[in-house]
Amino acid sequence: MNTPHPASPVSRRKFLGQLSAAAAFLAAPRRVQAGDAPMPPRRLGVALVGLGSYSTYQLGPALRLTERCRLAGVVTGSRAKGREWARDYGFPEGNIFGYDTMARISGNPDIDIVYVVTPNSLHAEHCIAAAKAGKHVICEKPMATSVADCDAIIAACRAAGVRLTVGYRLHYEPHHAEFARLARERVFGPFMKMEGANGFEMDSSATAKTSWRLDKVLAGGGPLMDMGVYVVQAACMAKVEAAPVAVTARFGPVTRPEVFSEVEESISWTMEFADGAAAHCRSTYDERVSSFRAEADHGWARLEFPAFYYDEPLLTTSRGPVKLPEVNHQVAQLDGMAKELLEGRPSIAPGEMGRRDIAIVEAIYAAARNGRRVEVGA
Ligand code: NDP
Repeated sequence: MNTPHPASPVSRRKFLGQLSAAAAFLAAPRRVQAGDAPMPPRRLGVALVGLGSYSTYQLGPALRLTERCRLAGVVTGSRAKGREWARDYGFPEGNIFGYDTMARISGNPDIDIVYVVTPNSLHAEHCIAAAKAGKHVICEKPMATSVADCDAIIAACRAAGVRLTVGYRLHYEPHHAEFARLARERVFGPFMKMEGANGFEMDSSATAKTSWRLDKVLAGGGPLMDMGVYVVQAACMAKVEAAPVAVTARFGPVTRPEVFSEVEESISWTMEFADGAAAHCRSTYDERVSSFRAEADHGWARLEFPAFYYDEPLLTTSRGPVKLPEVNHQVAQLDGMAKELLEGRPSIAPGEMGRRDIAIVEAIYAAARNGRRVEVGA
């Protein structure tokens, strides 16, 4: 896959070299003697940072099913919650850390990967702490709330010689992978006309109103940061991971000002690509929508509802429906990332991809604010 390149090719080579060395170490069996039965492949230890909804209902349960990794520890603001997780998942209480004691993870041999699942604007602080502790990092989407923070995370991971990936589960989902193949192999020709949407209905309850998702500082933005980033991803995937050259955008009307006083309620935008292709996209906290369609000269492909949700997406092309195995997205992603690491292969969802997407998101917000076409910066 043609992923964006970090600034310096030399540092990228060095970085990949460090990854291979780390992979060789991680992959090394702990004890091998003549006559022994073959050792099962090592399962990497993952520590989840932030035990909220996504950790509790998706990632934790997925880590009970993964073959290449397992839950080995947690970082949480609640020691009591940490103890509950230790009991439930069978790891020692010594593997419970606080946000202020993340440095201590460095001496813990059970933990290979730290997976940051906190509110968006805290990703940088927690990823950097994980890298400084010498552990590989998975950062949830969106990677951060600014390109500057993405750069700081990438720099910290490079300095520590650890791998950085973004929790882009759909790259490991078979229907999305097939969609990427159709684009890469130009099965219908290059996709030139695209249209996508992703959103859910944010309720107006008192609890919803206190959610960090509605807090500009913690979330970095509204549905674009949360759900729209998947549409940005799909459009780049349809263009074989190229970034758009420019964007235009418009905020939707605010119909519930008591809920959306800090972040946008909805937003629509267009991504223009170097070859003249265009993607018309939208994201909203007002409606359950989730779909993406891409058209080329000789055919089309469509990811229908629930294209970006956790369930099996429906993929149809101009040749008919495409039936592929249904997978648990988080199991596929976690095992996929662990396997890449153990085999010393580059990740298909590296930090540079997360940074690319935040550069696009920043350009979309700038375009919506000033009503002009904005070029997407490097
Ligand atoms: P939640 O609000 O449910 O959980 C966030 C957790 O972060 C909290 O429970 C808390 O854990 C910790 N935390 C630390 N500091 C703060 C703070 N200042 N305010 C609030 N929480 C804090 O969020 P989600 O689990 O839904 O989302 C977390 C991240 O995961 C986001 O970046 C989101 O975009 C991403 N996500 C990704 C999905 C995907 O499909 N890839 C799906 C859903 C979310 P503790 O009490 O343990 O300290």
